[in-house]
Amino acid sequence: MTFRALLTDKDKHGKVSSRVAELDERDLPDGNVLLAIDWTGFNYKDGLALTGRGGIVRSYPHIGGVDFAGRVIESTDGRYHPGQAVILTGWRVGEWHWGGFATRARVNADWLVPMPKGMSTRDAMVIGTAGLTAMLAINRLKSEGIRAAGSTNGPVLVTGAGGGVGSIATLLLARLGYEVHVVTGREEVHDDLKALGANMVLGRDALEASEKGLLKPRWRGAIDNVGGAPLASLLKQIEPGGCVAAVGLAAGANWDASVVPFILRGITLAGIDSVMQPFDARMAAWDRLTTLFSSTVYERMVTEAALADLPALSEDILAGRVRGRVIVKPS
Ligand code: NDP
Repeated sequence: MTFRALLTDKDKHGKVSSRVAELDERDLPDGNVLLAIDWTGFNYKDGLALTGRGGIVRSYPHIGGVDFAGRVIESTDGRYHPGQAVILTGWRVGEWHWGGFATRARVNADWLVPMPKGMSTRDAMVIGTAGLTAMLAINRLKSEGIRAAGSTNGPVLVTGAGGGVGSIATLLLARLGYEVHVVTGREEVHDDLKALGANMVLGRDALEASEKGLLKPRWRGAIDNVGGAPLASLLKQIEPGGCVAAVGLAAGANWDASVVPFILRGITLAGIDSVMQPFDARMAAWDRLTTLFSSTVYERMVTEAALADLPALSEDILAGRVRGRVIVKPS
């Protein structure tokens, strides 16, 4: 049996390129579950993989795609049966193991979660890694005492709000009753972010660099998708006892760190890793997303693309030009 995939390869000069190809199912990597992929998501990390940046891909030829949803064709694992709908995010799939930019995948059953009741495979990929990560970040803020209701709770900031994680975090926080402020570098997404529930839309200058050790506290908590220099400024503007959930690095991996906000305001910087989350935490997050996420409200942020579009979209996502979520039906 053959299947269709976006195959990424590296030539002898080190140039990485991708093309749509027909492959044999026997070429798929080892695994105990064979899947037909309905929808796959397109993420920042996929942009890195398809352009050969960030050391994401271990070996070539490669099939990218860090999240996908589909149906089981064959399984030798008792937890999954033919026809069952499942989701895969993380576990280095699309990085070290062939991923979702294909009509078929063979994976380890431990990496899957069953589709939550009432969720379609399309909705699962509209949410995707981005939504799962946003949910995990919100759960972490809550566990640090950043709650929606109550007079002691100030607004929560979301950075990189026009992207996948940021836009879903905006929607989820708003639906949970938080006062949500967002930072975006793009005027054209202001109305979208307000429609998702943002109470205040700020430009990137809200997080411009400052020599000062502390700035006026503005936010009780934050979900930071950009890292880099803006994170340094963000940490200086968190209220005493507040928390920043560090999710991404769209503006860079490094920043000029100072202990001052930590020792004078007792703030917390909490790392969020969606990739290696254990099954129970994933399942709990997906179940919560079933009721909390609104596909109707979020649809304005969804773009459907084809496998062949992804190389060009990779440059766009790395340059911060992709709005919300891009999903692909690989067939
Ligand atoms: P997107 O590209 O969809 O979103 C990133 C957003 O960041 C952009 O849309 C843009 O938003 C903003 N941005 C881009 N470049 C810059 C810049 N130079 N300075 C300031 N802001 C910038 O990516 P995702 O939402 O898929 O992922 C966001 C980040 O989170 C990525 O770094 C990704 O690797 C990481 N991630 C981490 C996960 C984890 O488990 N920790 C899981 C998933 C993603 P705007 O134009 O609105 O300002």
